[in-house]
Amino acid sequence: MTSPVQDAIDAVYVVAILAFVLGLKAMSSPATARRGIVYAGVAMLLAVVVTFFSPGLSNFAWITLGVVLGGGAGFYWARVVKMTAMPQMVAVFNGMGGGAAAAIAAVELVGSLSGATAVLSFTGAIIGSISIAGSVIAFLKLQGWMPSKAIVLPARQVLNFGVLVVGIGFGVAALVGLHAGYLGPFFGLLLLYGVLLTLPIGGADMPVVISLFNALTGIAVGLDGFALVNGPLGDAGYAMVIAGVLVGAAGSLLTMLMARAMNRSISNVFFSAFGAAEESGGTVQGSLKPIDATDAAVMMEYAGEVIVAPGYGMAVAQAQQKVKELSDLLSAKGVTVKFAIHPVAGRMPGHMNVLLAEAGISYDKLFDRDEINDEFASADVVLVIGANDVVNPAARRKGTPLEGMPILDVDRAKNVIVIKRGQGKGFAGIENELFYKENCRMLYGDAQAVLSQLVTALKRS
Ligand code: NDP
Repeated sequence: MTSPVQDAIDAVYVVAILAFVLGLKAMSSPATARRGIVYAGVAMLLAVVVTFFSPGLSNFAWITLGVVLGGGAGFYWARVVKMTAMPQMVAVFNGMGGGAAAAIAAVELVGSLSGATAVLSFTGAIIGSISIAGSVIAFLKLQGWMPSKAIVLPARQVLNFGVLVVGIGFGVAALVGLHAGYLGPFFGLLLLYGVLLTLPIGGADMPVVISLFNALTGIAVGLDGFALVNGPLGDAGYAMVIAGVLVGAAGSLLTMLMARAMNRSISNVFFSAFGAAEESGGTVQGSLKPIDATDAAVMMEYAGEVIVAPGYGMAVAQAQQKVKELSDLLSAKGVTVKFAIHPVAGRMPGHMNVLLAEAGISYDKLFDRDEINDEFASADVVLVIGANDVVNPAARRKGTPLEGMPILDVDRAKNVIVIKRGQGKGFAGIENELFYKENCRMLYGDAQAVLSQLVTALKRS
């Protein structure tokens, strides 16, 4: 039965869905990404507000309280979060989506479900629970409240499999009507499975993990939406299905991109405990050879080509504006300046592109790893700014946590200058033999301060 109110609500859902799609499209380019976020935000707001007018809705006070508490916390956190803490925020927000999907599924499973609806809710519950528990572990690792390296428990494959199978067994028992009380151990064991699955994943593989949990959350929400379609809030279910499918599809594509960037299959990331490999990065030979800003500036000024390889340290130091100044000065002196962007540099997919675009560096100077890697061997100078794992030759050796990850081959350049504060290791926690090589000089200090010195030295000359 349709009514004018229901028709109006449905029209708003259609507008929201269109805005979701347009938002996602706009997010595919750094130039339009901000607009995309606004579209998606407005779409979500429309979908939430219009649901309040659904004829079958009750419990307004509880729902409003949830929206105010959740929305308020999210708004506050998003405003105060530092750019460098964004990945852990994304991990938590992902997890919340998974948790919400699991909670909706729990409520539906406690009710009397049957047929396809029961199976969809059941599957949503499994995926949502794994997603929230795994996201919490990802958050703790990214936040530094837990070691980022892999934590490998004895007989973990058997343990994980056992927990999953027994957990699902309890769920099936509840589903076939044996006892609703079995839902407790069902959810408990699936949450435990999410934790066990994520513990053995090392820091370097976190981009794949975050993207996959993002995708899983979308899928769980979509499945819940299907189940809701048959209930009193039917049409809200369609909006959830479409939002969930979009997140699931975008997250899956991102997961594949990140896995390709690490040269790993998804099963490799989740089941091989790569990050538990040798921590030392092998036997490092040679010594660290410091250079000061004046000498480094001279070296770059007389170079034909300088390739800049930025990493997480540039983001921490918020040094992108200084990088732009340096690049402009060198270009004005006739030096060709290019930027080599590794897909997992920083702590977010596209992190370096976003920062460099924000500083106004034109896109035609930015090159993906695959586009520029062969050029390092002929570059006069490579300037590494706060990058470590993505330029670590240990990735070429078997048995290291970075094994197999395609790196920026900066060690093949004639001269390498590395800006970093001291002896800090990269996110994977291993030593970097690049810094000890004959062609490498260390320019110590906070990236922003050091780049200011380089700019001053270049202006003087
Ligand atoms: P890393 O985290 O490997 O290394 C960053 C380096 O920056 C450190 O060695 C640190 O050394 C230096 N640094 C820190 N602060 C400053 C500062 N203020 N000024 C100058 N240098 C500084 O960075 P990469 O970008 O090379 O690698 C990213 C890592 O993060 C990869 O392992 C990747 O897999 C992982 N990751 C990536 C995600 C993504 O989506 N992109 C998400 C999650 C993880 P020092 O302390 O001596 O200054």
